[in-house]
Amino acid sequence: MSKKLKRSRYAFFINKDDGSVIAYSSLSGAIIAFREITYIDRLNQLLSQPEIEFDEKNDIISVLYNKKLFVDVDADEDLLVRCLYEEGVIRNSTLDIMLIVTRQCNFRCVYCGQPHLDRKMEKETYDSVIAFVRNQLLLRGYSNVRVTFFGGEPLVEYNNIIWFLEKLKSMLDTDFPGIHMESGMSTNGYLLTPNHFDKLVSLNCSFYQISVDGMSYTHDKTRPLVGGQPTWQTIINNLSYMVTTTALFKVALRTNFNFDVADSLQEFYKYVSEKLNDKRIGIYFETIKDQGNSETPQLLGEIESLFINVEIVGMLKEYALSCNNVTSRSLPCSRVCYASKPNYFVFDDQGYLLKCSFDLDNETNNLGRIEDDGTVEINESLYSKWVYSDYLSSNKCKKCSALPLCFGKRCPKARMAYGEMDCDLDVVKCEIEEMIKKYY
Ligand code: SF4
Ligand code: SF4
Repeated sequence: MSKKLKRSRYAFFINKDDGSVIAYSSLSGAIIAFREITYIDRLNQLLSQPEIEFDEKNDIISVLYNKKLFVDVDADEDLLVRCLYEEGVIRNSTLDIMLIVTRQCNFRCVYCGQPHLDRKMEKETYDSVIAFVRNQLLLRGYSNVRVTFFGGEPLVEYNNIIWFLEKLKSMLDTDFPGIHMESGMSTNGYLLTPNHFDKLVSLNCSFYQISVDGMSYTHDKTRPLVGGQPTWQTIINNLSYMVTTTALFKVALRTNFNFDVADSLQEFYKYVSEKLNDKRIGIYFETIKDQGNSETPQLLGEIESLFINVEIVGMLKEYALSCNNVTSRSLPCSRVCYASKPNYFVFDDQGYLLKCSFDLDNETNNLGRIEDDGTVEINESLYSKWVYSDYLSSNKCKKCSALPLCFGKRCPKARMAYGEMDCDLDVVKCEIEEMIKKYY
Protein backbone atom coordinates (compact mmCIF):
# COMPACT_ATOMS: atom_id res chain seq x y z
CA MET A 1 0.00 0.00 0.00
CA SER A 2 1.37 3.39 -0.88
CA LYS A 3 2.12 5.77 1.92
CA LYS A 4 2.25 9.51 2.08
CA LEU A 5 4.92 11.65 3.66
CA LYS A 6 5.10 15.23 4.87
CA ARG A 7 7.94 17.58 5.57
CA SER A 8 8.99 17.30 9.23
CA ARG A 9 8.39 20.27 11.51
CA TYR A 10 12.10 19.95 12.43
CA ALA A 11 13.44 19.95 8.85
CA PHE A 12 15.40 22.92 7.56
CA PHE A 13 16.05 23.43 3.84
CA ILE A 14 18.62 26.18 3.65
CA ASN A 15 19.26 27.98 0.35
CA LYS A 16 22.84 29.10 -0.25
CA ASP A 17 23.86 32.03 -2.44
CA ASP A 18 25.50 29.65 -4.96
CA GLY A 19 22.12 27.93 -5.56
CA SER A 20 22.86 24.78 -3.53
CA VAL A 21 20.52 23.65 -0.76
CA ILE A 22 21.53 22.24 2.62
CA ALA A 23 18.96 19.97 4.27
CA TYR A 24 19.22 19.66 8.06
CA SER A 25 17.06 17.84 10.59
CA SER A 26 17.21 18.77 14.26
CA LEU A 27 15.37 15.49 14.91
CA SER A 28 18.14 13.27 13.52
CA GLY A 29 21.10 15.66 13.22
CA ALA A 30 21.49 14.73 9.54
CA ILE A 31 22.97 17.35 7.20
CA ILE A 32 22.72 16.69 3.46
CA ALA A 33 24.07 19.03 0.78
CA PHE A 34 22.30 19.27 -2.60
CA ARG A 35 24.79 20.81 -4.99
CA GLU A 36 23.97 19.44 -8.47
CA ILE A 37 21.31 21.27 -10.40
CA THR A 38 19.32 18.13 -11.26
CA TYR A 39 19.13 17.17 -7.59
CA ILE A 40 18.21 20.69 -6.53
CA ASP A 41 15.39 20.81 -9.09
CA ARG A 42 14.03 17.45 -7.99
CA LEU A 43 14.23 18.48 -4.34
CA ASN A 44 12.41 21.76 -4.96
CA GLN A 45 9.73 19.91 -6.87
CA LEU A 46 9.18 17.60 -3.86
CA LEU A 47 9.13 20.52 -1.42
CA SER A 48 6.45 22.26 -3.46
CA GLN A 49 4.01 19.43 -2.68
CA PRO A 50 2.00 19.44 0.57
CA GLU A 51 2.21 15.61 0.66
CA ILE A 52 4.81 13.36 -0.96
CA GLU A 53 4.16 9.87 -2.29
CA PHE A 54 6.71 7.47 -0.76
CA ASP A 55 8.85 5.80 -3.41
CA GLU A 56 11.79 3.75 -2.16
CA LYS A 57 13.41 3.81 -5.61
CA ASN A 58 13.55 7.60 -5.49
CA ASP A 59 16.95 8.26 -3.87
CA ILE A 60 16.02 11.74 -2.61
CA ILE A 61 12.74 10.64 -0.99
CA SER A 62 14.43 7.60 0.48
CA VAL A 63 17.29 9.47 2.10
CA LEU A 64 15.12 12.33 3.37
CA TYR A 65 12.73 9.80 4.90
CA ASN A 66 15.50 7.74 6.49
CA LYS A 67 17.04 10.87 7.96
CA LYS A 68 13.67 12.13 9.28
CA LEU A 69 13.41 15.25 7.11
CA PHE A 70 10.26 13.67 5.71
CA VAL A 71 8.00 11.76 8.11
CA ASP A 72 4.80 9.75 7.66
CA VAL A 73 1.91 12.07 6.98
CA ASP A 74 0.10 10.88 10.11
CA ALA A 75 3.23 10.86 12.30
CA ASP A 76 2.74 12.53 15.68
CA GLU A 77 5.91 14.59 15.90
CA ASP A 78 5.23 15.50 19.53
CA LEU A 79 5.56 11.79 20.30
CA LEU A 80 8.71 11.43 18.17
CA VAL A 81 10.32 14.24 20.15
CA ARG A 82 9.17 12.75 23.44
CA CYS A 83 10.65 9.40 22.47
CA LEU A 84 13.97 11.04 21.56
CA TYR A 85 13.99 12.81 24.91
CA GLU A 86 13.33 9.61 26.85
CA GLU A 87 16.00 7.69 24.94
CA GLY A 88 18.63 10.40 24.77
CA VAL A 89 18.29 12.18 28.09
CA ILE A 90 16.36 10.07 30.58
CA ARG A 91 17.68 6.59 29.80
CA ASN A 92 21.32 7.50 29.48
CA SER A 93 23.65 4.64 30.42
CA THR A 94 26.55 6.84 31.57
CA LEU A 95 27.01 7.88 35.18
CA ASP A 96 28.27 11.44 34.78
CA ILE A 97 29.98 13.13 37.69
CA MET A 98 31.48 16.58 37.93
CA LEU A 99 33.79 17.43 40.81
CA ILE A 100 34.42 21.01 41.89
CA VAL A 101 37.83 20.13 43.27
CA THR A 102 38.75 23.66 44.32
CA ARG A 103 37.24 27.11 44.59
CA GLN A 104 40.63 28.73 43.94
CA CYS A 105 42.20 29.63 40.61
CA ASN A 106 45.64 30.70 39.36
CA PHE A 107 43.97 33.11 36.85
CA ARG A 108 41.88 36.23 37.32
CA CYS A 109 39.80 36.40 34.15
CA VAL A 110 38.12 39.76 33.75
CA TYR A 111 34.68 38.24 33.21
CA CYS A 112 34.78 35.44 35.82
CA GLY A 113 31.93 35.67 38.32
CA GLN A 114 33.11 32.99 40.74
CA PRO A 115 34.30 34.10 44.17
CA HIS A 116 37.84 32.77 44.68
CA LEU A 117 37.94 30.94 47.99
CA ASP A 118 40.73 29.00 49.65
CA ARG A 119 38.71 25.82 49.69
CA LYS A 120 39.45 22.46 48.10
CA MET A 121 38.09 18.95 48.08
CA GLU A 122 39.67 16.80 50.79
CA LYS A 123 40.56 13.12 50.39
CA GLU A 124 37.62 12.04 52.59
CA THR A 125 35.23 13.63 50.10
CA TYR A 126 36.93 12.00 47.12
CA ASP A 127 36.55 8.68 48.98
CA SER A 128 32.84 9.34 49.51
CA VAL A 129 32.48 10.04 45.79
CA ILE A 130 34.09 6.68 44.99
CA ALA A 131 31.58 5.04 47.35
CA PHE A 132 28.81 6.99 45.57
CA VAL A 133 29.99 5.64 42.20
CA ARG A 134 29.96 2.11 43.58
CA ASN A 135 26.42 2.55 44.97
CA GLN A 136 25.11 3.97 41.72
CA LEU A 137 26.65 1.20 39.62
CA LEU A 138 25.07 -1.43 41.87
CA LEU A 139 21.68 0.29 41.98
CA ARG A 140 21.21 1.63 38.48
CA GLY A 141 23.20 -0.59 36.16
CA TYR A 142 25.14 2.12 34.35
CA SER A 143 27.65 0.84 31.81
CA ASN A 144 30.02 3.86 31.72
CA VAL A 145 31.45 6.27 34.24
CA ARG A 146 32.59 9.74 33.22
CA VAL A 147 34.21 12.21 35.59
CA THR A 148 34.76 15.88 34.76
CA PHE A 149 37.03 18.00 36.95
CA PHE A 150 36.05 21.61 37.38
CA GLY A 151 36.88 24.50 39.67
CA GLY A 152 38.15 27.20 40.11
CA GLU A 153 41.06 25.75 38.20
CA PRO A 154 41.13 21.97 38.69
CA LEU A 155 44.83 21.56 37.92
CA VAL A 156 45.85 23.47 41.04
CA GLU A 157 44.68 20.21 42.64
CA TYR A 158 46.68 18.03 40.24
CA ASN A 159 48.10 15.71 42.94
CA ASN A 160 44.72 14.95 44.47
CA ILE A 161 43.17 14.42 41.03
CA ILE A 162 45.82 11.80 40.21
CA TRP A 163 45.33 10.14 43.61
CA PHE A 164 41.56 10.02 43.05
CA LEU A 165 41.78 8.71 39.46
CA GLU A 166 44.13 5.91 40.49
CA LYS A 167 41.86 4.92 43.36
CA LEU A 168 38.68 5.06 41.28
CA LYS A 169 40.30 3.05 38.49
CA SER A 170 41.47 0.42 40.95
CA MET A 171 37.96 0.12 42.48
CA LEU A 172 36.39 -0.24 39.02
CA ASP A 173 39.01 -2.72 37.77
CA THR A 174 38.45 -4.89 40.82
CA ASP A 175 34.69 -4.68 41.36
CA PHE A 176 33.26 -3.68 37.96
CA PRO A 177 35.69 -4.93 35.32
CA GLY A 178 33.25 -4.37 32.41
CA ILE A 179 32.64 -0.71 33.18
CA HIS A 180 34.30 1.83 30.92
CA MET A 181 35.70 4.90 32.68
CA GLU A 182 36.89 8.16 31.18
CA SER A 183 37.52 11.60 32.54
CA GLY A 184 38.34 15.11 31.51
CA MET A 185 38.36 18.67 32.70
CA SER A 186 37.55 22.24 32.05
CA THR A 187 40.90 23.93 32.55
CA ASN A 188 42.63 27.16 31.68
CA GLY A 189 45.45 24.96 30.33
CA TYR A 190 48.29 26.81 32.08
CA LEU A 191 49.24 23.87 34.32
CA LEU A 192 48.59 21.23 31.67
CA THR A 193 52.32 20.78 31.26
CA PRO A 194 53.75 17.85 29.25
CA ASN A 195 54.39 15.85 32.45
CA HIS A 196 50.92 16.47 33.82
CA PHE A 197 49.31 15.71 30.47
CA ASP A 198 51.21 12.41 30.01
CA LYS A 199 50.22 11.23 33.47
CA LEU A 200 46.57 12.28 33.11
CA VAL A 201 46.22 10.64 29.72
CA SER A 202 47.74 7.41 31.06
CA LEU A 203 44.75 7.36 33.47
CA ASN A 204 42.31 7.89 30.60
CA CYS A 205 41.76 11.57 31.41
CA SER A 206 41.17 12.35 27.79
CA PHE A 207 38.87 15.30 27.20
CA TYR A 208 39.76 18.90 27.92
CA GLN A 209 38.03 22.21 27.45
CA ILE A 210 40.76 24.85 27.28
CA SER A 211 39.98 28.53 26.89
CA VAL A 212 42.16 30.78 24.74
CA ASP A 213 40.73 34.20 23.95
CA GLY A 214 42.36 34.84 20.58
CA MET A 215 45.96 35.97 20.13
CA SER A 216 48.21 36.95 23.05
CA TYR A 217 47.35 40.65 22.71
CA THR A 218 43.67 39.94 23.53
CA HIS A 219 43.96 36.77 25.62
CA ASP A 220 46.53 38.20 28.03
CA LYS A 221 44.16 41.08 28.76
CA THR A 222 41.13 38.89 29.49
CA ARG A 223 42.85 35.85 31.06
CA PRO A 224 45.91 36.91 33.11
CA LEU A 225 47.47 35.12 36.07
CA VAL A 226 46.49 36.18 39.61
CA GLY A 227 49.42 38.60 39.57
CA GLY A 228 48.46 40.00 36.14
CA GLN A 229 51.22 38.17 34.18
CA PRO A 230 50.51 36.84 30.66
CA THR A 231 49.39 33.24 30.10
CA TRP A 232 48.91 32.79 26.34
CA GLN A 233 52.36 31.49 25.41
CA THR A 234 52.41 28.87 28.18
CA ILE A 235 49.02 27.49 27.16
CA ILE A 236 50.05 27.40 23.50
CA ASN A 237 53.28 25.60 24.45
CA ASN A 238 51.24 23.00 26.36
CA LEU A 239 48.87 22.49 23.43
CA SER A 240 51.82 22.26 21.06
CA TYR A 241 53.22 19.40 23.10
CA MET A 242 49.86 17.60 23.20
CA VAL A 243 49.60 17.48 19.42
CA THR A 244 53.07 15.93 19.10
CA THR A 245 51.92 12.89 21.09
CA THR A 246 49.98 9.88 19.82
CA ALA A 247 47.66 9.98 22.84
CA LEU A 248 43.92 9.56 22.46
CA PHE A 249 42.43 12.84 23.62
CA LYS A 250 40.04 15.57 22.57
CA VAL A 251 40.35 19.28 23.17
CA ALA A 252 37.54 21.78 22.81
CA LEU A 253 39.55 24.94 22.26
CA ARG A 254 37.16 27.53 23.57
CA THR A 255 37.15 31.25 22.94
CA ASN A 256 35.07 33.70 24.94
CA PHE A 257 34.67 36.76 22.77
CA ASN A 258 33.65 40.38 22.86
CA PHE A 259 34.41 42.90 20.09
CA ASP A 260 38.11 43.12 21.02
CA VAL A 261 38.68 39.38 21.11
CA ALA A 262 36.66 38.87 17.92
CA ASP A 263 39.04 41.27 16.15
CA SER A 264 41.98 38.95 16.75
CA LEU A 265 40.21 35.74 15.75
CA GLN A 266 41.09 35.73 12.04
CA GLU A 267 44.74 35.81 13.02
CA PHE A 268 44.24 33.32 15.83
CA TYR A 269 42.49 30.67 13.76
CA LYS A 270 45.10 31.08 11.03
CA TYR A 271 47.72 30.47 13.72
CA VAL A 272 45.83 27.39 15.00
CA SER A 273 45.52 26.01 11.48
CA GLU A 274 49.27 26.39 10.94
CA LYS A 275 50.60 25.35 14.34
CA LEU A 276 47.92 23.26 16.06
CA ASN A 277 45.99 21.72 13.21
CA ASP A 278 45.07 18.34 14.59
CA LYS A 279 41.88 16.29 14.35
CA ARG A 280 41.86 15.94 18.14
CA ILE A 281 41.29 19.68 18.52
CA GLY A 282 37.86 21.18 17.84
CA ILE A 283 36.97 24.85 18.12
CA TYR A 284 34.21 26.15 20.33
CA PHE A 285 33.24 29.78 20.95
CA GLU A 286 30.82 31.74 23.11
CA THR A 287 30.12 35.37 23.57
CA ILE A 288 31.28 36.71 26.97
CA LYS A 289 28.33 36.67 29.35
CA ASP A 290 27.53 38.78 32.37
CA GLN A 291 28.62 36.71 35.38
CA GLY A 292 28.32 39.58 37.81
CA ASN A 293 31.98 40.71 37.58
CA SER A 294 32.29 44.51 37.56
CA GLU A 295 35.52 44.24 35.49
CA THR A 296 33.72 42.54 32.60
CA PRO A 297 34.40 44.44 29.36
CA GLN A 298 31.50 45.62 27.22
CA LEU A 299 29.10 42.78 26.42
CA LEU A 300 27.66 42.07 22.98
CA GLY A 301 23.94 42.13 22.22
CA GLU A 302 22.13 39.07 20.87
CA ILE A 303 22.14 40.18 17.24
CA GLU A 304 25.77 41.37 17.33
CA SER A 305 26.76 37.98 18.76
CA LEU A 306 24.83 36.19 16.07
CA PHE A 307 26.65 38.07 13.30
CA ILE A 308 30.04 37.41 14.88
CA ASN A 309 29.18 33.72 15.40
CA VAL A 310 28.48 33.39 11.71
CA GLU A 311 31.68 35.24 10.81
CA ILE A 312 33.70 32.92 13.06
CA VAL A 313 32.17 29.86 11.42
CA GLY A 314 33.30 31.31 8.07
CA MET A 315 36.87 31.68 9.39
CA LEU A 316 36.91 28.09 10.65
CA LYS A 317 35.74 26.86 7.28
CA GLU A 318 38.42 28.95 5.56
CA TYR A 319 41.12 27.36 7.72
CA ALA A 320 39.57 23.85 7.62
CA LEU A 321 39.21 23.73 11.41
CA SER A 322 36.57 21.61 13.09
CA CYS A 323 33.79 23.80 14.48
CA ASN A 324 32.13 22.21 17.52
CA ASN A 325 29.43 24.92 17.56
CA VAL A 326 28.11 23.55 14.27
CA THR A 327 29.07 19.87 14.30
CA SER A 328 28.39 18.83 17.91
CA ARG A 329 25.67 21.34 18.70
CA SER A 330 23.49 20.41 15.76
CA LEU A 331 22.96 16.88 17.11
CA PRO A 332 19.77 15.90 18.96
CA CYS A 333 20.03 16.43 22.76
CA SER A 334 23.32 18.30 22.31
CA ARG A 335 22.09 21.54 23.89
CA VAL A 336 20.48 19.99 26.95
CA CYS A 337 22.33 21.32 29.98
CA TYR A 338 23.75 18.60 32.19
CA ALA A 339 22.06 20.21 35.20
CA SER A 340 18.76 18.79 33.99
CA LYS A 341 19.98 15.24 33.42
CA PRO A 342 19.06 12.52 35.92
CA ASN A 343 22.40 10.75 35.36
CA TYR A 344 24.48 13.89 36.07
CA PHE A 345 25.75 14.74 39.56
CA VAL A 346 27.92 17.69 40.59
CA PHE A 347 29.77 17.49 43.90
CA ASP A 348 31.36 20.62 45.29
CA ASP A 349 34.55 20.75 47.36
CA GLN A 350 32.56 20.27 50.58
CA GLY A 351 30.68 17.22 49.28
CA TYR A 352 27.38 18.97 48.56
CA LEU A 353 25.41 17.54 45.67
CA LEU A 354 24.56 20.30 43.19
CA LYS A 355 22.99 20.39 39.76
CA CYS A 356 24.41 23.59 38.23
CA SER A 357 28.17 24.22 38.26
CA PHE A 358 27.80 28.01 37.92
CA ASP A 359 25.62 28.83 40.88
CA LEU A 360 27.61 27.09 43.55
CA ASP A 361 26.31 28.90 46.60
CA ASN A 362 22.62 29.16 45.72
CA GLU A 363 20.34 27.15 48.03
CA THR A 364 18.10 26.00 45.18
CA ASN A 365 21.18 24.30 43.78
CA ASN A 366 21.99 22.32 46.93
CA LEU A 367 20.31 18.93 46.94
CA GLY A 368 22.02 17.36 49.97
CA ARG A 369 25.40 16.30 51.28
CA ILE A 370 27.29 13.11 50.59
CA GLU A 371 27.93 10.76 53.54
CA ASP A 372 31.09 8.71 54.07
CA ASP A 373 29.33 5.63 52.68
CA GLY A 374 28.47 7.47 49.45
CA THR A 375 24.77 7.91 50.17
CA VAL A 376 23.04 11.26 49.77
CA GLU A 377 19.68 12.18 51.21
CA ILE A 378 18.44 14.06 48.17
CA ASN A 379 15.94 16.92 48.44
CA GLU A 380 13.49 15.29 46.05
CA SER A 381 11.33 18.31 45.48
CA LEU A 382 14.31 20.42 44.40
CA TYR A 383 15.75 17.58 42.37
CA SER A 384 12.53 17.16 40.44
CA LYS A 385 12.44 20.87 39.58
CA TRP A 386 15.87 20.62 37.98
CA VAL A 387 15.27 17.33 36.23
CA TYR A 388 11.60 16.88 35.44
CA SER A 389 10.13 20.31 34.68
CA ASP A 390 9.96 20.14 30.91
CA TYR A 391 9.20 21.74 27.58
CA LEU A 392 5.57 20.63 27.62
CA SER A 393 4.85 23.52 29.98
CA SER A 394 6.30 26.09 27.56
CA ASN A 395 4.29 27.17 24.52
CA LYS A 396 7.41 28.76 23.09
CA CYS A 397 9.49 25.57 23.26
CA LYS A 398 6.68 23.48 21.79
CA LYS A 399 6.77 25.69 18.68
CA CYS A 400 10.57 25.84 18.43
CA SER A 401 12.29 24.15 15.47
CA ALA A 402 15.34 23.52 17.72
CA LEU A 403 13.29 21.63 20.31
CA PRO A 404 15.02 18.24 19.70
CA LEU A 405 18.38 19.90 20.41
CA CYS A 406 17.52 21.24 23.85
CA PHE A 407 13.96 20.28 24.90
CA GLY A 408 13.67 23.64 26.65
CA LYS A 409 16.56 22.60 28.92
CA ARG A 410 19.25 24.89 27.61
CA CYS A 411 19.57 26.39 31.07
CA PRO A 412 17.31 24.96 33.79
CA LYS A 413 18.65 27.57 36.23
CA ALA A 414 17.26 30.40 34.09
CA ARG A 415 14.09 28.45 33.49
CA MET A 416 13.54 27.98 37.23
CA ALA A 417 14.28 31.65 37.90
CA TYR A 418 12.17 33.20 35.12
CA GLY A 419 9.60 30.53 34.28
CA GLU A 420 10.51 30.39 30.60
CA MET A 421 13.71 30.52 28.58
CA ASP A 422 14.61 33.91 27.19
CA CYS A 423 14.76 32.67 23.58
CA ASP A 424 13.64 34.51 20.49
CA LEU A 425 12.47 31.74 18.15
CA ASP A 426 13.41 33.70 15.03
CA VAL A 427 16.92 34.31 16.34
CA VAL A 428 17.33 30.64 17.31
CA LYS A 429 16.25 29.50 13.83
CA CYS A 430 18.29 32.16 12.05
CA GLU A 431 21.44 31.23 13.99
CA ILE A 432 21.13 27.55 13.11
CA GLU A 433 20.48 28.31 9.45
CA GLU A 434 23.23 30.88 9.06
CA MET A 435 25.88 28.77 10.79
CA ILE A 436 25.06 25.67 8.75
CA LYS A 437 24.93 27.72 5.57
CA LYS A 438 28.38 29.14 6.28
CA TYR A 439 30.01 25.84 7.26
CA TYR A 440 28.69 23.45 4.57
S1 SF4 B 1 12.65 28.11 22.79
FE1 SF4 B 1 14.78 28.10 23.54
S2 SF4 B 1 14.75 26.71 25.30
FE2 SF4 B 1 12.87 26.33 24.13
S3 SF4 B 1 13.37 24.61 22.74
FE3 SF4 B 1 13.78 26.54 21.63
S4 SF4 B 1 15.96 26.98 21.95
FE4 SF4 B 1 15.31 25.47 23.50
S1 SF4 C 1 21.82 25.44 34.55
FE1 SF4 C 1 22.37 27.16 33.21
S2 SF4 C 1 24.05 28.22 34.30
FE2 SF4 C 1 23.83 26.16 35.19
S3 SF4 C 1 25.28 24.85 34.07
FE3 SF4 C 1 23.28 24.71 33.04
S4 SF4 C 1 23.36 26.25 31.41
FE4 SF4 C 1 24.98 26.75 32.86
